[in-house]
Amino acid sequence: MIRMSAAAYTEFMTANQDNALPPSDPRAAKVIEIGKRMAAAVTSYMNDIGHPELIEGFQWTYNTIDDPTLNAWCMPGGRIVFYTGILELAKTDDEIAAIMGHEIAHAVAGHGNERMSQAAALQGATSVGQFLLMSDTSPGLGNAILLQSIGAGGQLTSLAFGRKHESESDNMGLTFMNKAGYDPYSAVTF
Ligand SMILES: [Zn+2]
Repeated sequence: MIRMSAAAYTEFMTANQDNALPPSDPRAAKVIEIGKRMAAAVTSYMNDIGHPELIEGFQWTYNTIDDPTLNAWCMPGGRIVFYTGILELAKTDDEIAAIMGHEIAHAVAGHGNERMSQAAALQGATSVGQFLLMSDTSPGLGNAILLQSIGAGGQLTSLAFGRKHESESDNMGLTFMNKAGYDPYSAVTF
């Protein structure tokens, strides 16, 4: 999943390069700053609870797309995208951290992997591995389904993930932002 995400992320960033904000843009800089702080907290937390394997191979990446879409996502492997649309709704660093904690939680909890397994089954594959082999023969199919599986298909990730995953990510996200020193109560105001 992480390997496939890396390819899908590169493809996504290439397709959106005209709208990708440079790191010098204050909005992109903010996402990078908060992202680094969150990633450090998540890493130390996973070590503390004895589950460093859940973030093994993660290569944290933070990008901001200038687009009114109300969404943000984090791929398996820690590749994060924020849209300026949702950034405009977040009034404080704490509120941005609340969004980010939630999205990181989807990646750490492997929700995209579960969705991907379901998608693979729908395509007639018996495993994600077999599905990836099938994807090789239909370029674009794997990437499209991966993007949907991690909630990058459109607005508001709940369309992709469903309630159980959303509640779980809300919970984990609060823990992550708390560990990073942000105010978890800002999730309520957001
Ligand atoms: Zn979500």
